[in-house]
Amino acid sequence: MSTAPLLQVNDLKKHFPIHGGFFGGVTAKVYAVDGISFDIAKGETLSLVGESGCGKSTVGKALLRLFPLTDGQVILDGQRIDDMPSGTLRPLRRRMQVVFQDPFSSLNPRMRVRDILAEPIRNFGLAKNSADLEARLAALMDKVRLPRDAVNRWPHEFSGGQRQRIGIARALAGEPDLIICDEAVSALDVSVKAQIVNLLQDLQKELGLAMLFISHDLAIVEHMTHRVAVMYLGKIVEVAPRRSLFGAPKHPYTEALLSAVPQPTPGIQRQRIILKGDVPSPINPPKGCRFHTRCPYAFDRCRVEEPVLRPIQDAMGEGHVSACHLHDLPAAQNPLSEAKGAQLLAVG
Ligand code: SF4
Repeated sequence: MSTAPLLQVNDLKKHFPIHGGFFGGVTAKVYAVDGISFDIAKGETLSLVGESGCGKSTVGKALLRLFPLTDGQVILDGQRIDDMPSGTLRPLRRRMQVVFQDPFSSLNPRMRVRDILAEPIRNFGLAKNSADLEARLAALMDKVRLPRDAVNRWPHEFSGGQRQRIGIARALAGEPDLIICDEAVSALDVSVKAQIVNLLQDLQKELGLAMLFISHDLAIVEHMTHRVAVMYLGKIVEVAPRRSLFGAPKHPYTEALLSAVPQPTPGIQRQRIILKGDVPSPINPPKGCRFHTRCPYAFDRCRVEEPVLRPIQDAMGEGHVSACHLHDLPAAQNPLSEAKGAQLLAVG
């Protein structure tokens, strides 16, 4: 895996205006994504996790330029793409493809699989002639482990898992460097989920793909990611390599999220942390630390001063950053300073 960043995201913001009043002017804003930065190396999987409504899917859509950004930069392989005119962006779109959550609504029911897959190949001018197109279709079906003659069938003839394989084949048709998987396995049954995750992992190794894996399912993320970025209410609160994050989380929100992940070992579980209250509205996020209304460790400073992401000492490896005022406290007063966060308990 190369360490050169393929994708760099700097201070990305997406605020959605809310119109109202007599003249229909902007009366408020939804701060869906409010200044996040991360990068992804070639061949790396970065998972973006958090509760529903935290802004993670908006990040994916913003990267794909499905709507204009409010602010920030998106740099793909050294080229800034957030302000690129659509004509110039067109060839670069090929390099960043998406697999959507719902395999039922994401495939056009009026197109055979061959037309679904041929569309991006033609749009990006990849096939030299019709024989080359046929060879590409066959290779795509091989890659996603579907029979070659399935290209002649309609989407409704496939199961949910098979449709998601077709969705992956469509993403691969443009020969991308990066795939954004937006809750790509969330709608699938448990056994099918594991098959699709294994397929994505195999493809990543085979093709050297980078992946942004957007998910609320930490059990799946733990199985297949290199690094994890945790989002809460439009902000990233912690980023760490998989082992560090799951072994010793440094942010109270991550600690709470992980406490709900079932453990594969019978008789062992994490100490469950129940967060109080609901996620606040992104229209009016709390001042100071956005998590302070639910954080079990909140103190006065948290209510007035917003913590910033900073590097954290981590015995398990480098590249761990977290945004929490607890990191300024002496170790004896910091409840997450020791390997306590994801504490495993023997039960039964
Ligand atoms: Fe909790 Fe304060 Fe840390 Fe926010 S800054 S996560 S409220 S301890």
